Amino acid sequence: MTCNCKTEISEKFLEKVKADIPESTNHSLEMTAYSFVLDGNRMELRGYMPVEIKHTLKNKKTGLDRVKKEKTSVLFTFCPFCGVRYKEEQGESA
Ligand SMILES: [Zn+2]
Repeated sequence: MTCNCKTEISEKFLEKVKADIPESTNHSLEMTAYSFVLDGNRMELRGYMPVEIKHTLKNKKTGLDRVKKEKTSVLFTFCPFCGVRYKEEQGESA
């Protein structure tokens, strides 16, 4: 992780949740659209956008159409909060 947005935003968000629901205790939250990815030989925490793919497949035997749904995700190249590039490019000087 190149920046601290996940931690900082989680902390601020949790403070807001506590203020919004003062009658409850043991508030917690988790920003779930983050995943560890292997970058070279090190693990890096990166944000991602869940993607749902939908397509109609014709069954070869019956000829009937069947809607098929698949789930995947797109990794962010830049932090969606502060715009910092997650991965430092080797030899890039910009
Ligand atoms: Zn950030």
